[in-house]
Amino acid sequence: MIRLNQLKLPVNHTEEQLVHKTAQSLRIPTEDILELEVVRQSLDARKKPELFYSYSIDVIVKKEEKVYKDACRRLGKANVLQTEKRKYHFPAGGTQPQKHPTVIVGCGPAGLFCGYYLALHGYRPVILERGADVDTRQADVERFWETGKLQPNSNVQFGEGGAGTFSDGKLNTLVKDKYGRNTEVLRTFVRHGADPAILYQAKPHIGTDVLSRIVKSMREEILRLGGEVHFHSQVTEILTEGGHVTGVKINAAEELPCEQLVLAPGHSARDTFSMLYENQFPMSAKPFAVGFRVEHPQALINRSQYGVEQVKGLGAAAYKVTAKTGTGRGVYSFCMCPGGYVVNASSEPGRLAVNGMSYSGRDGQNANSAIIVSVTPEDYGSEHPLAGIEFQRVLEKKAYDLCNGKLPVQHYGDFRKKVTGEDLPEKEIDSDEWDRMEPQCKGAYEWADLTGILPEECNHAFVEGMDSFGRQILGFDSPHAILTGVESRTSSPVRIDRDEKLQSAIRGCYPCGEGAGYAGGITSAAMDGIRVAEMIASQFAPSQR
Ligand code: FAD
Repeated sequence: MIRLNQLKLPVNHTEEQLVHKTAQSLRIPTEDILELEVVRQSLDARKKPELFYSYSIDVIVKKEEKVYKDACRRLGKANVLQTEKRKYHFPAGGTQPQKHPTVIVGCGPAGLFCGYYLALHGYRPVILERGADVDTRQADVERFWETGKLQPNSNVQFGEGGAGTFSDGKLNTLVKDKYGRNTEVLRTFVRHGADPAILYQAKPHIGTDVLSRIVKSMREEILRLGGEVHFHSQVTEILTEGGHVTGVKINAAEELPCEQLVLAPGHSARDTFSMLYENQFPMSAKPFAVGFRVEHPQALINRSQYGVEQVKGLGAAAYKVTAKTGTGRGVYSFCMCPGGYVVNASSEPGRLAVNGMSYSGRDGQNANSAIIVSVTPEDYGSEHPLAGIEFQRVLEKKAYDLCNGKLPVQHYGDFRKKVTGEDLPEKEIDSDEWDRMEPQCKGAYEWADLTGILPEECNHAFVEGMDSFGRQILGFDSPHAILTGVESRTSSPVRIDRDEKLQSAIRGCYPCGEGAGYAGGITSAAMDGIRVAEMIASQFAPSQR
């Protein structure tokens, strides 16, 4: 098979043009192409407003050797190579019998994919999820956004599908895919209803609506294969004997025996982290980042990225910005949601956290992303392994108290003036679109002063970052940009230690996913879930059927 890189076509090209361009590049008639697969599609906006897709294509052609040598000579080895289809192999083959099925704590991407891959390969995992099934959860979350009444176990962080269910459903990850797990995660999403284009898009996303359906379909497959998924089942205690897990206690009542326990509780299960700490699980505090959601008119972002406000066939534009501040702190955009909504993502009564979400169409009026400042254990004020959680709690209580649980919002100009004492210079931007702009929030909001939430040094770093981003994207640092606080759940503030067998010092326990500190995002959490499933399957034999 030949891989052809850097094949460029205007963004509104047809499929026929892609085949024709491939044939033209290889200097063969189109009939000589026996098979063609797009491996990667990324946007090339260097000549905006002229926009191109840059493709990597795999083709099977007649007289491959000759065609390959000839193309190589003309196009160079970086642009043409011979390749083979890579297949993912689940390394089953464990022989030790399992006394009890593997128990998995949490049905977020890590727990769900771990359970799914075990079930696919003949195991009968039991997934325990403290929250509700995705349909009940959706109703609970909508009610929370309408009334402000929080369900502590069924909210944006907890329930079937985990934290990512109410998200933009961005599926890109920076984790290297040496073993093919990334592609495997995407293929699984496609098997359960995602658009196959996610397999080759450089920045795939599926939106909260599609993701919810996929999660449910994966659960149904696990059940069909003999696994179990129990909702409203919070693991409140880990039972051990001689340093090895022997079972778990559910809802402080029922006991369930197990000798392999996957711990995938996500980064918001603070009571679970405390329980694990009391159960002597080795863990440590880790750095993460805090800041605010920032909203801009989507048209402004489109103009900066595409050169025009709308391009037929291209959705709302995304961006990524980073800066290093004078004090050495990093400031960067995170979880950017084109055409999205700012959501009240709280999970603890009396505390408030925000995040971003979008639907598959990404057709909301505003673009939002978290602009966050890195913090390290030195900022937490204590050396306790759970000090990062206390740090988050303090910020979230301040955010909650500002407007009694409503999302506190502020114009960036007011925030900046309070932090620096300076007015922002007016810039040439479309004032109409700013006048029309309103916060696009899921959950009630109120105008407030956000400058008292973050530590002062973080406020200054945030402003320094925004100033720098204003030089990268015209209007990014406009005084009319809207901030919402507080963005505090960007990644886990804790790492639960695990060894090369992916086990904790409490043997038989496998810390997994984002909460345990081994992933950051939907896809990498899912990949880590598969990795833990592989580890279990390489030691233990599948269940008898
Ligand atoms: P989680 O998804 O947090 O899942 C953990 C699960 O464990 C939860 O369902 C929880 O209820 C359950 N649980 C916790 N404790 C217990 C217990 N004791 N007993 C039983 N069950 C328990 N990432 C992206 O890659 N792209 C995005 O677009 C994106 N957008 C996001 C938008 C929002 C609003 C949020 C909140 C997050 C977003 N993320 C996004 C981050 C992403 O959701 C997480 O990285 C990912 O879900 C982590 O997966 P996980 O399985 O490790 O943990």
